Amino acid sequence: MYIDGIKVHEADPEKQPQPPVVEPKPYNAKTAKPPKGAIVLFDGTEKTLKNWTSGNGKPTKWKLVDGALESVRGGGYLQSKQEFGSCKLHVEFATPKEVKGSGQGRGNSGVFLMGQYEIQVLDSYNNITYPDGQCGALYGRAKPLVNASRGPGEWQTYDVTFHRPIFNDEGEVTRKAKFHVIHNGHVIHNNLELSGGTGWRGPHSISEYKKHGDKGPLKMQDHGNPVRFRNVWVIPIKD
Ligand code: MG
Repeated sequence: MYIDGIKVHEADPEKQPQPPVVEPKPYNAKTAKPPKGAIVLFDGTEKTLKNWTSGNGKPTKWKLVDGALESVRGGGYLQSKQEFGSCKLHVEFATPKEVKGSGQGRGNSGVFLMGQYEIQVLDSYNNITYPDGQCGALYGRAKPLVNASRGPGEWQTYDVTFHRPIFNDEGEVTRKAKFHVIHNGHVIHNNLELSGGTGWRGPHSISEYKKHGDKGPLKMQDHGNPVRFRNVWVIPIKD
């Protein structure tokens, strides 16, 4: 599959250059704080664990560690009980301090809007992979404008404004999804119109838009690496 003439997961830097590495901006505790009216999905406490479930509706197997939710190998996706459409989202993540593996195998997770549109989470600090799968990529669809990654074990932020796709009765997309994503203070997607679903290049993964409902859960991926999340809040946006 090709997007704008470039093969999905193109790794040749002559055909798909690596995003330039930039210095992450200092952690901003102010923008990390949920504004009035935000729905706080996780604040580090056991109390907010009840906002989450596993994909099959059972309690999540992810662990509460030092005020963060940590992915457990084989634990499956972490899924919010509440569902959202267009929204603003703040989420913080840290890839494992102990560096293991390389490429897609190092600190892999992901944040899925409406349960399906993935903003990749990966340890992309001195770890080259195909640009449309590095940290901050809309997986398989769009590489980040810059690589603003912090090092392993350090807390990083995503501040996202997401407009959901809208479909007509025939199942055609009439308004594509739009992502504005700020990673560690740098804009990595500037009101980007998503060309279709995100996913791996295989035929049963990345695909064109398929009609779905107005809302879906927020999901975090278990990709076998103990990636941590904290400070997760959402503000729904009117369409
Ligand atoms: Mg992932």
